[in-house]
Amino acid sequence: MTTDHSTRIDEEVVDAVASLGNRQRLEILVALADRERELGVDGHSMTFTDLYDAVDVDSTSQFSYHLDRLVGEFVAETAGGYRLTYGGDSIVRAIRSDLYESATSFEDRPIDGTCVFCEEDALVARLVDGRFVVRCDSCASTLVTDFFPRSQSAHRSPSEIVASFGYRIWSTVVLIQGDVCPECYGLVDTRIDGTERGDRSFYVHVSTCRECGLVITLPIEVTAAFHPSVVGFLWEHGISLFSVPLWEFFEFVTTETVRTAVTSTDPFAATVEIAFGDGTLPIEVGECGVVDVGDSADPA
Ligand SMILES: [Zn+2]
Ligand SMILES: [Zn+2]
Repeated sequence: MTTDHSTRIDEEVVDAVASLGNRQRLEILVALADRERELGVDGHSMTFTDLYDAVDVDSTSQFSYHLDRLVGEFVAETAGGYRLTYGGDSIVRAIRSDLYESATSFEDRPIDGTCVFCEEDALVARLVDGRFVVRCDSCASTLVTDFFPRSQSAHRSPSEIVASFGYRIWSTVVLIQGDVCPECYGLVDTRIDGTERGDRSFYVHVSTCRECGLVITLPIEVTAAFHPSVVGFLWEHGISLFSVPLWEFFEFVTTETVRTAVTSTDPFAATVEIAFGDGTLPIEVGECGVVDVGDSADPA
């Protein structure tokens, strides 16, 4: 880890995290969230007495002490009493969904789609050390790796779990288009990066969050495909882009339905051309994203 990327831990952060290590305090957060859910009112405030009654604690002084430890980061004081902050709300969601727990079981599952590197249909989805991984069994490349929270595996069949990762990745692409971090909503910076595999070059947009440091890597073909003109163009040709997961999208690349021609490396410029039937749509991609959209040539 370089100095530029090192995370400084302030004493306030240590205090804030420490203040959560107590059953009564977690009960206070959950009580506020439960009341919001009961009433269907976001950001509902509870009075001191209401909240005291909802939590199993011996005395008002003890309750007061615990509540004080939460006020600021996790609970806000309002005219109507107390309500959850963004931080408090996030903690309750983590508790309810066991978000701190990774999925513990998921059987290896062959999935549709094509390896973008060796062009074989040999993709397998699997759980590796608590992460969701899409790997090619033919050339041993890893195509996708992502957190695999337990909540994502609950109430879903194995094929639904795989599909949910497809949607999760696409939601990330939409946020990145607006320079929004999918985890903390901080500002992300995007740059271009290229790798050589065999006789082919692959270019990716690498987006890094200035706040939490999350790094998202997406092929430039995906950046291009999410331009509204392409989404519409694909729809006109019978394809709902959002229902095609990333690993199936790779098939468009290997079959040259999506073709990329790099026109300059410094500064980076490329044309990603989407071709269906007689129609083609050229998208100009630069260092940070789509820079221009050509006219679609479609006799239909
Ligand atoms: Zn492969
Ligand atoms: Zn972030």
